[in-house]
Amino acid sequence: MQFSEKITKAFELTERNFESINIERAIFLSYYCDLRDCKFCYMSTIKSSPKKGLRSFESIFAEAFLVKMVNWKVEFLSSGYGAYNIEKIIEIVKGVSSITGEPVWLNTGILEKEELSLFGSELKGVTASIETFTEKLFQELCPSKNWDAMMEFLEYSKELGYKRGITIVLGLGEKKDDLDNLFQIIKDYKVDRVTFYSLNPHKGTIFENSIPPPSLYYLDVISETRIMFPKIEIITGIWSDRINLVGPLLLAGSNGITKFSMQKFYGSKLGKSLSSEIKEFENISKRRFKGSMTDMSLLKNEIEFPEKSEYTNKFIEEEILKKKELIKERIDSYITEIKSLK
Ligand code: SF4
Repeated sequence: MQFSEKITKAFELTERNFESINIERAIFLSYYCDLRDCKFCYMSTIKSSPKKGLRSFESIFAEAFLVKMVNWKVEFLSSGYGAYNIEKIIEIVKGVSSITGEPVWLNTGILEKEELSLFGSELKGVTASIETFTEKLFQELCPSKNWDAMMEFLEYSKELGYKRGITIVLGLGEKKDDLDNLFQIIKDYKVDRVTFYSLNPHKGTIFENSIPPPSLYYLDVISETRIMFPKIEIITGIWSDRINLVGPLLLAGSNGITKFSMQKFYGSKLGKSLSSEIKEFENISKRRFKGSMTDMSLLKNEIEFPEKSEYTNKFIEEEILKKKELIKERIDSYITEIKSLK
């Protein structure tokens, strides 16, 4: 199929199956990882990393309140390997789902089956960061991670009734011809969501002098994925220097955009530029973005839980309210930072 036909078909399928455009925020739980040897990851450039990169609960919950206020989505809670024990992860998941009124996805490395079975309905799904199209390249890129363990993780997550996501970074040396291999994995493990990023070459990694993949390649991969899987959720990451890719990515079948900081984007020129991309896209689409990138009046230093939510956990809500002042301090500091960067 010609490139232009692929884009047209992918757009039609996405229009038929989806109604919204989402701005997704991955909430980072830590800037720490036990492994630190994935070849593209900035963590691999940090030689020793004591567990000081862990965020406080107050800071995580403050960010969740802000994401809710502006009607973005929490893409997932993300951390490197070994950052938190399972009890802490459960507490954070319950807290964030109580705040947003929505179940949460995790991207915190492989969790054991016994650990996963400790969650309730507040956990929506888990993510296997397989990073690329084939096992061979994955194992070269991430020597301490284990492909078979990733696949098993997807398998028992399915058995336990959780949704499954994967993350892929384009531009790490994958071959386009191997895309079929990725599609087979999506089929075999009934993957519900794929998050695509494009390479951001970090200083000190082997990709330092590489260039990000061309935009048309990015669009091609997204459109082929959409055509192959009309109902799967596709999230696409962009960097702040590639905002003009937002419209084309939505056209090619993306459901949502991720990978930018709220402090840098909200209300700033970058946020306005992203809004204008989305508005222009809405002129040709029936999908709608219901949140905001620019409305400063939505940012309030308030702690409010959704009125009716099946994910309300009274015990966690009380725990959050006990830390109310500390959380409000964090919200205040985020809002000040957002305003100062305008
Ligand atoms: S597991 Fe994740 S955080 Fe750790 S080195 Fe690999 S990519 Fe980086």
